Amino acid sequence: MTTELNELYRELLLDHYRRPRNHRRIEQPDRQAEGYNPLCGDHVTVFLKLDGDVVKEVTFEGSGCAISTASASIMTETLKGRTLSEAKAIFKKFHGLVTGESGEIELGPGMGKLEVFSGVCQYPARVKCATLAWHTLAAALENADAVVSTE
Ligand code: ZN
Repeated sequence: MTTELNELYRELLLDHYRRPRNHRRIEQPDRQAEGYNPLCGDHVTVFLKLDGDVVKEVTFEGSGCAISTASASIMTETLKGRTLSEAKAIFKKFHGLVTGESGEIELGPGMGKLEVFSGVCQYPARVKCATLAWHTLAAALENADAVVSTE
């Protein structure tokens, strides 16, 4: 990765940390789940409004480090308007990207910002920060009211 690209990613990440998108509670959500990452102290609650099997609205609340907050923010932007099966497929790709387990990942349309986290695989302790919101969302989809912990 070039230094310039690194710098660009850092800027985008910090922007989402300082001004997280969709950072609010949904009153009477269809699904909601809470996630903790005790290792870092990250805490997130994800709220979902569904329209059939389409993610109509997805928001989050919570506090955490720059990576966990930016990841939750970018996740909500990326998943709005997607079907549940698309959302699951995107999570799988994202997981492969941050763990570095899947080699080159082909990101689809509207998923470019996820690339920001491609450097995370060099810092294994940070993988949990980057995936917390996603695991929490997955739990919300499995269960109407779930609590997950990365430990
Ligand atoms: Zn963290």
